[in-house]
Amino acid sequence: MTKSSTISLWDRSAAEADLINPMTGDGVTDLAIVGGGFTGLSTALHAAEKGIDCRVLEAKQIGYGGSGRNVGLVNAGLWLPPQDVRAKLGEKNGAALIKTLGEAPSYVRSLIERHQIRCEATWKGTIHAAHSPKGHEDLARRAEEWRRLAAPVELLSRDEAADLIGSRSFHGGLLDHRAGTINPMGYARGLARAAQGAGAQIHTGVRVQALRREGTDWCLDTDRGRVRAKRVVLGTNAYTDDLWPGLKSTFTKIHFFQLATVPLGDKGKAILRGGQGLWDTGAIMFSLRRDAFGRLIIGSMGTVIGGMDGLSRRWATRMLQRLFPDLGEVPFEHCWHGQIAMTPDHLPRMHRLDEGLYTPIGYNGRGITPGTIFGKAMAELLAGGREEDLPLPVSHPKPVKSAPVMSHVYQTAFTANQVLKCV
Ligand SMILES: Cc1cc2nc3c(=O)[nH]c(=O)nc-3n(C[C@H](O)[C@H](O)[C@H](O)COP(=O)(O)OP(=O)(O)OC[C@H]3O[C@@H](n4cnc5c(N)ncnc54)[C@H](O)[C@@H]3O)c2cc1C
Repeated sequence: MTKSSTISLWDRSAAEADLINPMTGDGVTDLAIVGGGFTGLSTALHAAEKGIDCRVLEAKQIGYGGSGRNVGLVNAGLWLPPQDVRAKLGEKNGAALIKTLGEAPSYVRSLIERHQIRCEATWKGTIHAAHSPKGHEDLARRAEEWRRLAAPVELLSRDEAADLIGSRSFHGGLLDHRAGTINPMGYARGLARAAQGAGAQIHTGVRVQALRREGTDWCLDTDRGRVRAKRVVLGTNAYTDDLWPGLKSTFTKIHFFQLATVPLGDKGKAILRGGQGLWDTGAIMFSLRRDAFGRLIIGSMGTVIGGMDGLSRRWATRMLQRLFPDLGEVPFEHCWHGQIAMTPDHLPRMHRLDEGLYTPIGYNGRGITPGTIFGKAMAELLAGGREEDLPLPVSHPKPVKSAPVMSHVYQTAFTANQVLKCV
């Protein structure tokens, strides 16, 4: 079976082959995993390695959700500064989560190396760039806290940031040496290959349409047959549909879009010359990185507007001109966007929805490391571990009543941002 269209640059450029495996007929398994992104695939890999019989059911293709569309910044910690995570989660839980996610890029790297995942991995760090003097103050506060935790981070002056980024537009930055960049679709496909190699069954093109309890089992009705399972993990995150009542109302859905230039060869060499990926401190964040082929990939919050020749393309051209006046106009060859699940407090959740039914969800745009780690934690729990040992306290879903309205408000603000930056 071949695909008719690609969902991102990464879908086209990943060296790892797509895993396409339709489900035929009914099945029985110990653990059913809904969703073939980082969360579902990491759960499957770690569960299969522990000898648990498991099956991934993915509605579309591996990496179809955020996992195959993201920027590919393998960051440490969460979107919030560590001190804010502690303040919100409490000292004990907050400190434990920060420690686990602080070490998470190194765990992702170990998985990539162990399973020889071909995903353009570079481990040169990432730069959080200050868009304003206030942004630099915020970064100094983050830097101080990370240094207190003995993390290898460097607060960059304006000149140091300009030297690494190749642009004088920033007021400094925070270079995190723990982090790196990957081709995220390559990583997702590599996890799928590794999970299958460990014994997990992975099915694509199969949507779970209903989930209900029958005696001690869970029954998953799909458009390709029925699966019975003792336990279920939903790894559907921002792509959650109506499968579990109310789950998609527990977060605000926002979008993030990206455009990729053609490979620039020597022309782009001075931009991010150290190979770091970048995102900034602006309220409407933007991102910039290179891939292994010398493309520049630039993105921001919102959807692609007008396809390859519309508003987003003009936005990307203007942004590159502003940041790198010597670059000249460059051709773009890919544009795409994806969905992000934002929670009111910007913290992820690990919900127990019912007996034997869990979902890690709400990653707020930081999912490569949390998805990998939370999937591993799910596998450990289901292999006989304790809920108390999960990276986050188990929670129960709470609807965010304003979510649909806020989604529209954000999208309007993000569109206005594209328009204004084109002027
Ligand atoms: C544009 C963008 C940029 C980002 N940049 C970064 C970044 O640089 N670094 C970072 O760490 N994070 C980033 N993120 C966040 C990160 O991509 C996500 O948090 C992460 O991919 C979530 O992984 P997941 O496996 O939980 O969910 P997803 O990858 O979204 O997977 C969910 C899957 O569930 C499937 N599904 C849904 N319902 C059903 C059903 N009923 N039956 C079967 N299957 C179903 C979907 O098809 C989908 O494939 C970004 C996100 C986006 C969108």
